[in-house]
Amino acid sequence: MSDIKGKYKKILEDLENNIKNPEDLIYTKEKVIELTTIFMDIIDRLTVLTDARIKEIEERQEEINSKIESVQSMVDEIEGDIYEDEDSYEFEIVCPYCNYEFTTDIADEEKDEIKCPKCNNIIELDWNQEEESACDGNCSHCYGEVAEDEEKYTSKDEDDDKDDKNEDEDM
Ligand SMILES: [Zn+2]
Repeated sequence: MSDIKGKYKKILEDLENNIKNPEDLIYTKEKVIELTTIFMDIIDRLTVLTDARIKEIEERQEEINSKIESVQSMVDEIEGDIYEDEDSYEFEIVCPYCNYEFTTDIADEEKDEIKCPKCNNIIELDWNQEEESACDGNCSHCYGEVAEDEEKYTSKDEDDDKDDKNEDEDM
């Protein structure tokens, strides 16, 4: 910047040394200053515009970065859920003896028993049974079966009661 000031001063000095007519010198100097002011003004405006544009781009970049970050953390979470361990996966187990809830890595799905870390009882893991009980007996596939079983039991009980009464009367 100081170099530009030096060059500017040199130009004015050249004008003073080469224009002998004082009126011409003043006029020329004024015009040079006028021209300089115009250029300075243009540079200022360009600088302001450029600064605003850069700030806008930076803000957009920040916005994009935060969006990428939130997507990345979602992907990490999903990946963590799916690929917690390449050969095994975490499985939540509630001990039927002491109700202790714990998670365990089960590498082999065929593994059929596990030791409760709290009460040390062996918990049998019946994979097939779990699949069947998943519907709570309310699905169209098994609802009929459950209802039929209940009917059988109740009618049996009633029969037993009648038999008992008959026996009582006979005595
Ligand atoms: Zn237990």
